[in-house]
Amino acid sequence: MTTPETAAAPSERTRIRRIPANAAYDRATLHAIVDAAYLCHIAFADDKGAHCIPTACWREGDHLYIHGSNGSRMLKRLTDSECCVTITHLDGLVLARSAFNHSMNYRSAMVYGRFEVVSDEAQRQRALENFMEHLAPGRQAEIRPGSDKEYAATTVLRISLAEAACKIRSGGPNDDEEDMQQLAWAGVLPLALKALAPVMDARCVTPAPAYVQQWLQD
Ligand SMILES: Cc1cc2nc3c(=O)[nH]c(=O)nc-3n(C[C@H](O)[C@H](O)[C@H](O)COP(=O)(O)OP(=O)(O)OC[C@H]3O[C@@H](n4cnc5c(N)ncnc54)[C@H](O)[C@@H]3O)c2cc1C
Repeated sequence: MTTPETAAAPSERTRIRRIPANAAYDRATLHAIVDAAYLCHIAFADDKGAHCIPTACWREGDHLYIHGSNGSRMLKRLTDSECCVTITHLDGLVLARSAFNHSMNYRSAMVYGRFEVVSDEAQRQRALENFMEHLAPGRQAEIRPGSDKEYAATTVLRISLAEAACKIRSGGPNDDEEDMQQLAWAGVLPLALKALAPVMDARCVTPAPAYVQQWLQD
């Protein structure tokens, strides 16, 4: 999965030891996993103990971005302590012929480091516009842009993707040869995050733009 040309060397804490054949450390794999995500989970610790909080995310270059209210406890903590960001895409349930060979197909990524505040005003606004583009390409040009007050109340943070590991499982069950006679159905139930038909707001008078049409087709 990882080729020497594209793989960054894993750090002591990102080297995958359990089933290392499923590991990947290259940028393309990591970026694809982050780009396919609307949210991540961020683990950090404070004086009350450990927390793991889900939040929206997006990528620009080799950084993962998050945003939130200036008053957010999590956002304040994240700039003064190390954290671990996790993204998981569940791709399927793997049903084997024996109980202990069941598995799941997935693409996951873990990123380690410390978030930094995006303080440059132009960069911050561009980042938030990129977030909108990530959710719905083309939408930024259609909506009322954020006001100075709204931008001022919002913190944008980013974390380098430099120290990261990806782990991917795909394919069918790995049954032991002696279990192949077991008359149980075996295979994969593929799973995917799917957009359902968009529901138009009752007061909306605007025809569906291209990205909404796309969701309708999906
Ligand atoms: C949907 C899903 C279901 C899973 N179910 C189970 C389960 O039921 N039981 C189970 O034991 N494991 C499960 N796993 C695998 C689990 O995420 C760990 O990889 C595994 O438990 C080994 O953990 P470890 O700390 O012993 O691994 P190690 O290989 O020792 O971990 C070393 C380092 O590798 C990196 N790493 C480890 N796991 C991942 C990962 N998944 N993605 C990215 N980087 C990683 C981290 O940086 C970690 O510090 C599941 C994973 C997913 C995504």
